[in-house]
Amino acid sequence: MALDRSNPVPNDLSAFWMPFTANRQFKKTPRMFVSADGMYYKTADGRQVLDGTAGLWCCNAGHNRPRIVEAIRQQAGELDYAPAFQMGHPKAFELATRLRDMAPEPMEHVFFTNSGSESVETALKIAIAYQRAIGQGTRTRLIGRERGYHGVNFGGISVGGIVNNRKFFGSLLTGVDHLPHTHLPEKNAFTRGQPEHGADLADELERIVALHGPETVAAVIVEPMAGSTGVLMPPKGYLQRLREITRKHGILLIFDEVITGFGRLGSSFAAEHFDVMPDMITCAKGLTNGVIPMGAVLATREIHDAFMHGPEEAIELFHGYTYSGNPIASAAGLATLETYREEGLFERAAELAPYWEDAVHSLRDCPHVIDIRNMGLIAGIELEPIAGAPTKRAFSAFLQAYEKDVLIRTTGDIIALSPPLIIEKHHIDTLFGTLRDILKGLD
Ligand code: PMP
Repeated sequence: MALDRSNPVPNDLSAFWMPFTANRQFKKTPRMFVSADGMYYKTADGRQVLDGTAGLWCCNAGHNRPRIVEAIRQQAGELDYAPAFQMGHPKAFELATRLRDMAPEPMEHVFFTNSGSESVETALKIAIAYQRAIGQGTRTRLIGRERGYHGVNFGGISVGGIVNNRKFFGSLLTGVDHLPHTHLPEKNAFTRGQPEHGADLADELERIVALHGPETVAAVIVEPMAGSTGVLMPPKGYLQRLREITRKHGILLIFDEVITGFGRLGSSFAAEHFDVMPDMITCAKGLTNGVIPMGAVLATREIHDAFMHGPEEAIELFHGYTYSGNPIASAAGLATLETYREEGLFERAAELAPYWEDAVHSLRDCPHVIDIRNMGLIAGIELEPIAGAPTKRAFSAFLQAYEKDVLIRTTGDIIALSPPLIIEKHHIDTLFGTLRDILKGLD
């Protein structure tokens, strides 16, 4: 069918099978963004929509930032692509160095991917290969956590703990266990920042390790703060405990920082914020401000060096992607990190966090609100589900917010907010003022 180019909304929406979308609902009442600038998206019908979610937790510097746009333009005209295997180009090395320099100290090496999901698969594979490289080849088991989100590839959904993301897709990876999730609303509801209760849930790791024998376990992967399953903060002492137990048993600890990386909690990475150092960090999203797909795995020198012993002309790690360290993505990454640094956006997130916290907790008295959680510039507002129709109430809030020119995100019955770090106090007021109005009127 021919397209009507004068109308920004295509007249045929049938071909695109949209990801994680209620396709039939969407195609009846499509929601289209046609441009963006700073804190706002613009819709096909000309409305400015305040971005309360930094796209999908990724546009931390806001939209259409000139430095990033220009870097992409320049790089595309200079070197569009270079083979990722056995050849290099300067920008990927520069970006790896910049990333290493801003990461917590033990992270010394950077492996590039194209998404959070690929970063997770890469980290899991490196963990197993590392154990083998140091003579611990029986260590192949992986441990994730209930309600964990680690992307959508087979490794990620295997260690992840979201029922709907797992149950349709067969038997998944074998040799995987899950820690219990840390969401304890009866004890921790309406906590500001890290909750008091739940550190002892990390001790479940001892039980799982004892069950299989430590010599079978390669790695534990968790999000230091679980984003996609409703913004779940780690209980005080929980991550420290995981670190102690993994270290005691020679198990690697991987932090999936695809959301928490690049300033969301007011520091470069959550590992710094919580002062717990994993052996690997996965990241993506904010690495390029979401503008070009790119992810990375950061690893300690110990992990990297374990692969560097064979003949010099031999490939050390049999893993990589055609677009690992892609020149245009690398240029976007460099411009993004420079924007964060120049504008002090991570510090800004830390400074604004108390105002943000007060604003989100001001919704506590609204109808249907059963919990509120926050840290840095992220928040989750949990609504009581409608009996027999879970997710309906929150989805209705999402649709109403869009009509009122505010973009929010929902996961189950939880409203998740994670604005660009350039947000101003007046945007915060608008965001929560609009949400208050919506919550008051919700069925
Ligand atoms: N890990 C975490 C913690 C995430 O939040 C996400 C995405 N929300 C992913 C992995 C997957 O990233 P992507 O969608 O880029 O594959």
